[in-house]
Amino acid sequence: MSADDHAAGRLCVDLDALGANYRLLRGKLKSGSAAAAVVKADGYGLGMVAVARALAAEGCADFFVADIDEGVTLRRALPKARIYILGGCFGAPPELAAHGLTPVLNHPGEVAAWRDLARIGNGAAPSALHLDTGMNRLGLSAQEAAALAVDRAAQAELGLALILSHLVVGEEADDPLNQTQLGRFAQLLKQFPPIEASLANSSGVFLGAAFHFNLVRPGAALYGIAPQSGRPNPMAQVVRLQGRILQVRSIDRGETVGYGAAFRAARKSRIATVSVGYADGYLRSLGQNSANRTGSRHGTACLNGVEIPVIGRVSMDLITVDLTGLPDAAVFPGQYVDLIGPHRTVDALAQDAGTIGYEILTRLGPRLRRVYAGGRQ
Ligand SMILES: *Cc1c(COP(=O)(O)O)cnc(C)c1O
Repeated sequence: MSADDHAAGRLCVDLDALGANYRLLRGKLKSGSAAAAVVKADGYGLGMVAVARALAAEGCADFFVADIDEGVTLRRALPKARIYILGGCFGAPPELAAHGLTPVLNHPGEVAAWRDLARIGNGAAPSALHLDTGMNRLGLSAQEAAALAVDRAAQAELGLALILSHLVVGEEADDPLNQTQLGRFAQLLKQFPPIEASLANSSGVFLGAAFHFNLVRPGAALYGIAPQSGRPNPMAQVVRLQGRILQVRSIDRGETVGYGAAFRAARKSRIATVSVGYADGYLRSLGQNSANRTGSRHGTACLNGVEIPVIGRVSMDLITVDLTGLPDAAVFPGQYVDLIGPHRTVDALAQDAGTIGYEILTRLGPRLRRVYAGGRQ
């Protein structure tokens, strides 16, 4: 018996594919530019520590997380890595220094707090500075940046190790906003003394050398999500989501399946109940959501290489699939069924659900057993 024999659903993470994606991205960079890894939101749902360890083994030295709690967890796994906190420092709490975490200073209040800390402590611990170039969420405005740029004393006290900005529409290669942001970022950087700079997320890596600066910050592409809309996806698929068949039943024509009687059998049918639901991140929008709305967009499962439709509503812990037409002998309780896998990529499932791959991955629930394969030791 394998250790996961009683797991209801599992998420298989291919660390070799992850490593290959990291190398592919790094291989696109101009010389002098390095690839960090963004592992926020539990490594986009895949398991932050396992993912970060695998990437560190590939030579990745810089990691970005969203908040301090994620940073503290990652620090325990990677004692030597540089770990940036993208947001939510709320001043300069002692946890940052205690765990050697590098805050991304997003507004003048954080800049002042980090400076105060350096004054009362033993000088500057490294920090990064976020400059806004068009996203208008986080980062210093052009005016605030200009004021800091002429204040060399402040800069020395801040320990500025990196200046970054974030692209708004990087996945649309032809959108003029990319060039606008690039121009604004270059203009802002000129006002500062030479400090390492970073602009590109996954998509930005594909916009060309001018976007690479000293460090790129890919997240999604590492995990297999297509970095450019409307172009072939060069990234390897990293995840496979599997549920298990709990029960198989036959129903007569006219009977309904699941909540709301959303599916009504048009013929005598064989239905399997599978052990994954919306609590696991199999989104409710992948089911049939108003009574008798057959033929609507829905998810599909794959059993023994055959694609079969998800029918009825998605429940919290369960979905139902239509096996009609598959030979009896081929199906048994306990059997694994693919929900994301070779038959349906993360991006394709996202399209079925009316969302983006990022949301599919980051909603994958804690109940799913994470199973890791491959990876360097
Ligand atoms: C999440 C995030 C990234 C990673 O973006 P992807 O599109 O997943 O590559 C990079 N930079 C910042 C500031 C982010 O918030």
